[in-house]
Amino acid sequence: MGEAQCGTEAVEFACTGGVYDQGGPVLICSPDTLMRLIRVSAWYAIRHGEHADEDYEAFRGRHPTNIGLRAFTASAPAKGDTALDSSIDQLRTEIEAGRAESRTARIFQAILGFVFAAVLGHEASHLEAGPPFCAIADRSRVEESGLWSVLLRVSSSDELYRPSYPVSAEVAADRCASRRIRLETAVLKTGPLSAGDQEFVRRAAADVVSTMLLTRIDASTARPLFQINDAYLYPPLRMLALAGEMNAGEPGPMVCGGAAESLVEAAQLTYRAQPGKGLMPDEMEHAFPKGVIDAWARRANWSPAAFACR
Ligand SMILES: [Zn+2]
Repeated sequence: MGEAQCGTEAVEFACTGGVYDQGGPVLICSPDTLMRLIRVSAWYAIRHGEHADEDYEAFRGRHPTNIGLRAFTASAPAKGDTALDSSIDQLRTEIEAGRAESRTARIFQAILGFVFAAVLGHEASHLEAGPPFCAIADRSRVEESGLWSVLLRVSSSDELYRPSYPVSAEVAADRCASRRIRLETAVLKTGPLSAGDQEFVRRAAADVVSTMLLTRIDASTARPLFQINDAYLYPPLRMLALAGEMNAGEPGPMVCGGAAESLVEAAQLTYRAQPGKGLMPDEMEHAFPKGVIDAWARRANWSPAAFACR
């Protein structure tokens, strides 16, 4: 997803993939990245398990905003939360032994499945030698709906931001990630989780992935750092493609809750750094809850309720 920044204080969420002269196809992730993703996915499942009858929106209401950032901070290793650490260890043991039988373990496994679909789906694309640069030929929902084409148009024009020229392999890799996410939604649908728990999984995973795209976490202060990398589509466009794919075609807004909070923040920061005409196309705007659209149009104030999923 990004370059490793060894030797700096910021912890980048780093995986990389490619075909090398001597090594052939290689896909690697820093152990720190994998651990952060495992722990944050487990955090959602464990905290949800404490109030099992809550849906995602009620769960979000119980935690301070921005929930995705809070989740990464609260689940960071070596925080001294021994109860959380032992719950996470227990979940990992359960899953690694191939017996994810408890509801919490199933939710954990499903969230992690979506997160890995986004991260590894992207990297695996870099291992492909020819079109469509993806092992999955079937299109994602964001492709089918036309949103993907809109995102590419926005990227290359000045209608919203300054025109950008991302590396085509990185754009193809995000498209491949969206396809892998669609496969993951099919797995979730045929699994044992209730419809409400399935929604929780999709929303939690969207939070995690959009937070990753919003931030690098400053390890010393746990403060998020926003960065635009020329090689990729702008962060808000990537969030719409990946977090959006997780809930595309499902009831409720395509992007809401913590994912919408991160996306709105990324959209504002990107506009500040790379301003264009500032016109958000309807296809993008329609991905958000009405509260976000109203706040953008200055018909309402920004508040946690603006991002509500229901
Ligand atoms: Zn890449």
